[in-house]
Amino acid sequence: MVNQYPTQLTAKTRVRHYAADFRKLDELFPGKYPRMFVHGEGTDLIDSDGQRVLDAGNHLGVCVVGHGRGDIADAVAAQIRGLEFVSLEAGASHPYVAALGEELAGRVPVDNPIFSFTSSGSEANEVAMKVARDYHRRRGESGRFKIMSRYGSYHGSSYGATTATSIPAFREPFQPLVPGFVSLPQPFAGFCGSCSFGEDCVGHCIEETAAIIEQEGPHTIAAILAEPVSIPGAVKVPHNDYWPRLRELCDRYGILLIADEVVTGFGRTGTLFACEHWGVRPDILTMAKGLTSGYVPMGAAAVSGRVQEAFEGSPLVHVNTYAGHPVASIAALTTLKIIDEEGLVANAAAREPELRLRLEEIGAQVPWPARASVIGLLGSLEISLPDDVDAERFRALLWHESYEQGVVVRVTRAAQIVSVFFYPPLVITSDRLQEGLDHLAAAVRRVTTTTLMDDGRVEVGPSAEIQASAELA
Ligand code: PLP
Repeated sequence: MVNQYPTQLTAKTRVRHYAADFRKLDELFPGKYPRMFVHGEGTDLIDSDGQRVLDAGNHLGVCVVGHGRGDIADAVAAQIRGLEFVSLEAGASHPYVAALGEELAGRVPVDNPIFSFTSSGSEANEVAMKVARDYHRRRGESGRFKIMSRYGSYHGSSYGATTATSIPAFREPFQPLVPGFVSLPQPFAGFCGSCSFGEDCVGHCIEETAAIIEQEGPHTIAAILAEPVSIPGAVKVPHNDYWPRLRELCDRYGILLIADEVVTGFGRTGTLFACEHWGVRPDILTMAKGLTSGYVPMGAAAVSGRVQEAFEGSPLVHVNTYAGHPVASIAALTTLKIIDEEGLVANAAAREPELRLRLEEIGAQVPWPARASVIGLLGSLEISLPDDVDAERFRALLWHESYEQGVVVRVTRAAQIVSVFFYPPLVITSDRLQEGLDHLAAAVRRVTTTTLMDDGRVEVGPSAEIQASAELA
């Protein structure tokens, strides 16, 4: 049964929505946004006008097993009726979190792991960074406090995670940030400072990483925090040598390696965890999103037995009321069961070539430089717009046109580069994937049509929208 609330309330006035994304949509299509979603079914979302769209981007990488699943709803409802909450306060626990720890231990690429459960990915990264600093302090190396992360990476919204997020727009308004953070190059052409957009990554970034470690002093560095595949701006699949060489550098200098698998975990990239693509075992691995497929919020940090030894008899001082929440534990256990039983990791791997081929074809239709990048069911298409195109308008139109066609994508912008992200739930069939990509292709075709205006400006988009915005202006 769906809970009924009026859908004509706009939610705009009293609810903060992400960033400023929708100002342009509002300007171009007054009163139409935000869309109010009232139902989810498998790969799809249904809005209050009854329009059905493929969710290839609204869920922010959370949705693995699909929307509206009765099996998870039943398990979660039964747990709420039986025991909705008990904390992990000294002397107490519950079988659901214990079972989840066991299930995850057999799956994460971390040696003999111990889990700290959290309520989000940001908090999982906070735990990982605290563990890293305290680990070295307990071993008599309190001078090792620096956390290294890469330019263009995103690690979350809490203060430590914001500091590790090496993207100026996310950091600058909140200065001064947490001391002791250092930025490293990102292993992807156009983001690393060595290779540029359109080239292949040749691994300069790892040499530069070694040089920065030497320059900072290895004895001052606690950990390197990195996503196996970083997402902001593009799906930045690294050079195949990158992760094994990063692991080697960490081993050589006594630095802990933290893999942030908040978005890549639970099958998204075609392996259960993305580190498995390169056979790398981090010292700490953080997860969230796909852990419960979004049914109940939950995150976790998996800490290796070797690191955990430093905490024997005197645990990490980090309290979270909701750690190991029984309802979230049941949502996670049921999600893991579905991932196994429905072969979702193999499905993500099988769909990868289809997604890549179509995104490359769509990119080839664009009249400007475009680059597709795909791993598993995680894809992006970056479009490099000429200076005379209003990139914010292009971005809003692309989102709108995709929606009108029948697919929700995520569209971001950095200066004149607009990036479309396409990452449907892992339960998607080949046919539904093709339909979603047909919708995207149609939207891209419409939005990349250009009109030279009387005043010399180049306008993008279908003529009806150009007309409407000219009237508004
Ligand atoms: N790390 C990565 C790689 C992410 O993509 C995100 C969220 O998008 C986070 C951390 C933060 O997770 P949360 O929003 O659950 O705090």
